[in-house]
Amino acid sequence: MLESARYEIVLFGRKLLESGLVTGTGGNLSVRSGRFAALSPSGVEYGLMKPEDVVVVDMDGRVEDGRLKPTSEISLHLALYLSRPDISAVVHTHSPYACVMACLGREIPVFHYLVALAGRKIPVAPYACFGTPELARSAAGSMGDGKAVLLANHGMVSVGRSLSEAFRIAETVEFAAMVYSKALTLGEPRVLSDAEVDRVMDALKDYGSSVIQTGPLKEGDR
Ligand code: 13P
Ligand code: ZN
Repeated sequence: MLESARYEIVLFGRKLLESGLVTGTGGNLSVRSGRFAALSPSGVEYGLMKPEDVVVVDMDGRVEDGRLKPTSEISLHLALYLSRPDISAVVHTHSPYACVMACLGREIPVFHYLVALAGRKIPVAPYACFGTPELARSAAGSMGDGKAVLLANHGMVSVGRSLSEAFRIAETVEFAAMVYSKALTLGEPRVLSDAEVDRVMDALKDYGSSVIQTGPLKEGDR
């Protein structure tokens, strides 16, 4: 079931590893397709993960296809799909600078325009033990209608209409957390006004869309 979603999970799992957003078996990812979700398996290294290791579940968490155990954060992924009909992918990481801010319990405002890709701020969800329905409720409640949330004393979660969007937001959250934590050591970073955030959000809507519309370059296009 969900063959292309399985491949995507393996591909973006490798991308998360290569970009340093995950280490070891930390973090997990999923794609929703109709009434089902394809989830990364629990405790499997990204470099060794194969499409057949991905687990397909229904929205109540019943395994429909797969031999391995789904991620221990299954309730987190499903809670986000239930509360956000607009999203089709979830990425969870323990990326280092996002963890720095999450362990300080410090939300990230739009101090750099790219934070607006994730929303009006990146909030912090109150702590709950990993893998629990409490963590799922905390994360889904704190994320609101944004696209990323820090998990206190744990990591971060991003969502998107596709895995590529959720991945891009995970990268952006890590970049923002890195710059913000360094800027805070030198002074008080200036935060963009609400009006400017509106303008940036509007401008970001079209950003990168020409790549999707144009497709791959063919011979003679240059
Ligand atoms: P899984 O290997 O079960 O996905 O757990 C990793 C993790 O990040 C738990 O929060
Ligand atoms: Zn985790």
